Amino acid sequence: MESIPDLIRKKRDGETLSDEEIKTFIKAVSDDSIQDCQIGAMLMAIWIRGMVNTETTTLTQEMMTSGEVMSWPKEWAGMVVDKHSTGGVGDKVSLVLAPALAACGCKVPMISGRGLAFTGGTLDKLESIPGYSVNQSGAQIREILESVGCCIVGQTKKLVPADRVLYALRDATSTVDSLPLITGSIISKKGAESLNALVLDVKFGRAALYKNQKSAKELAQSLVNAGNSLGMRTAAVLSLMHTVIGRCVGNSLEVIESLETLKGRGPDDLMELVTTLGGVLLVMIGLVSDQSEGQKKISDAVIGGAALSKFQAMMEKQGVAKEKALSLCSTQTDYFSVLKKAKHQVELKTSTKGVIADVDGLVLAKILQKLGAGRSKAGEPINHSVGAELLVSLGQKVEKGVSWLRLHYDDLAPTSDQMNQLQNILTVGKHEDAKIKEKETLVKEILLPH
Ligand code: URA
Repeated sequence: MESIPDLIRKKRDGETLSDEEIKTFIKAVSDDSIQDCQIGAMLMAIWIRGMVNTETTTLTQEMMTSGEVMSWPKEWAGMVVDKHSTGGVGDKVSLVLAPALAACGCKVPMISGRGLAFTGGTLDKLESIPGYSVNQSGAQIREILESVGCCIVGQTKKLVPADRVLYALRDATSTVDSLPLITGSIISKKGAESLNALVLDVKFGRAALYKNQKSAKELAQSLVNAGNSLGMRTAAVLSLMHTVIGRCVGNSLEVIESLETLKGRGPDDLMELVTTLGGVLLVMIGLVSDQSEGQKKISDAVIGGAALSKFQAMMEKQGVAKEKALSLCSTQTDYFSVLKKAKHQVELKTSTKGVIADVDGLVLAKILQKLGAGRSKAGEPINHSVGAELLVSLGQKVEKGVSWLRLHYDDLAPTSDQMNQLQNILTVGKHEDAKIKEKETLVKEILLPH
């Protein structure tokens, strides 16, 4: 058997690693028989040299089986689905989509992550609901799926241990942004959920990791290839991420907007993403015959209230007191009787008359992160009540002096420089500029399994 330095040399020199060699590397990572410096060197060699499709597939497969692979009752065969997003500003799709899919009869063991830098995390959003516990064992996940159909939980310790080691070292060695390493990390975790179908929301634009559609498509294709080679029907949706999804950013505020959407009062852009991603999944598992039927089924589950009932049941199963879950899901409710409200709210006003042409989601997210809504290092605490509500929509005509953003903050007050930066994220233009944006939909391309 080749030694670890031999494997590193091989990849360093641009050769293709065999299945056995990748297996040897991942086994050494999992049983701790390799030095961190050797892992770091291999990661850098992969970052520089890349991997061919077969190498990426083997890497993903070996990472997936480095820990527990979930198993489901045979009655659920064909119905176990999930989605993953590469992260955006105000991205609350999972909170609406998981219960909508459950309402359509799917089983959704949604294992989500926490926010880092300017992107929010689904787990952080849900933890703004008092009592909600994201820590559920494999047996508890199965029980929630049995009775409700969906859960949104954190990664269990037993799932893909190789990724935990590799991810920490990728961070330390500047090798996070490698196509095969990202693919292995994301798809191995989804593969360990033993899904029948997976849809990926790969975002591109100013407020996304990938700035243009071409680079996002490269990642999407790599993810789709790896997922399908593991036997999981995998598709990707390429969607635009320039501004804010919906109108709210910040953990509690996004929970409120998700609940409003589940009550049939959601913004069009959020509903577009929910119905498109859900529709793709329903087509892949054969529950509907085409995309438009799938989108309608998801939309009906949201608008008709079936998804809201699933969300309420999921909250209760994951630790939220019955009366709190009921209050949050009531048609008319004061959300802040359950969720914590920030001490201060301030409204920013338009400085000119015109039409709302643009809102820079990236700058907004970065400022909110500094005010406590997000973390710059894994493990840092966050303030769930910090956030912002957009009070206007793209394409809307406004007068000078109209409130366009409500900022929620606590003890960490925005500096005057931050207030100026916030004011500058808004572009008020002439009517012609705005017309185009108003009509723009977010979904730009769908990659289906072959
Ligand atoms: N999310 C993951 O889980 N892994 C990556 O490498 C990137 C995003």
